[in-house]
Amino acid sequence: MSSSKILLITGVSSGFGRALAREALAAGHKVVGTVRSAEAKRDFEALSDGAAFAYLLDVTDFDAIDGVVARIEADVGPIDVLVNNAGYGHEGILEESPLSEMRRQFDVNVFGAVAMMKAVLPFMRNRRSGHILNITSMGGHITMPGIAYYCGSKFALEGITESLGKEVKPFGIAVTAVAPGSFRTDWAGRSMTRTPRSIADYDPIFDPIRKAREERSGKQLGDPQKAARAMLAVIGAEHPPTHLLLGSDALGLVRDKLSVLAGEIRAWEDVTVSTDGGAV
Ligand code: NAP
Repeated sequence: MSSSKILLITGVSSGFGRALAREALAAGHKVVGTVRSAEAKRDFEALSDGAAFAYLLDVTDFDAIDGVVARIEADVGPIDVLVNNAGYGHEGILEESPLSEMRRQFDVNVFGAVAMMKAVLPFMRNRRSGHILNITSMGGHITMPGIAYYCGSKFALEGITESLGKEVKPFGIAVTAVAPGSFRTDWAGRSMTRTPRSIADYDPIFDPIRKAREERSGKQLGDPQKAARAMLAVIGAEHPPTHLLLGSDALGLVRDKLSVLAGEIRAWEDVTVSTDGGAV
């Protein structure tokens, strides 16, 4: 990529955030990353002398976000690109999983991302330029048993991304939802919250899914470094997409879902149009 930019990436200690930071630094950009410990801050800043900056922030510390973003703008420079990457997966059958787990899932994956966007938007709008990438998931398009809270949060972020993009396009700001399939990160390992099992009725539908996810962790198809390169291409694009899928698994599953959805809409079309009241 030609021009050097300032990227703010949430959650750069591992996975996609770390891989994107590394690739962006190698491409000559400055990267500001958020981390949650002094050790992670030291570790991140050691990636580059003068181009990697880490700020302590838990994205659910909503009252702190505006101040951190203002400090970054003043101390590092104008944020060209915000990447809302920080997030985690909750796994658990809906009936078994307490509402508190859903609140936590939405606080991190949705409210945290929105609070970050609200903090950078005044700066980007004043400059009439900027790009926001929200890392959603193929789980923001397709679903499976046992990750209802996660899918709910990622569907929410997909919708918010699309709507916000329409609001800020006149100001030269692009908003892209990046939806990865299964990638080799800490997502299904140390980062995942798994609600313990309690209702035997769900054993047949859910036990094989939980077991398979645990066994696949660390061996997923997707390579985070290649995802990082794809994200850099999007950041450098003149006309970035609103939605981008990453990985052949995401491509196949989302295409199947869209064709099933189209079939269902067709099958029920008569009922759908039967509710119109006619001209008033
Ligand atoms: P990861 O290796 O577990 O990285 C997650 C990052 O988010 C870590 O840096 C973590 O920081 C940070 N984080 C988590 N909760 C946070 C909070 N409350 N405040 C600030 N930072 C927080 O997993 P990953 O796969 O790279 O996840 C990145 C994003 O990709 C997530 O939004 C995830 O849902 C999404 N995604 C992943 C996959 C996949 O297969 N890997 C697929 C689709 C979407 P700590 O080190 O401090 O915990």
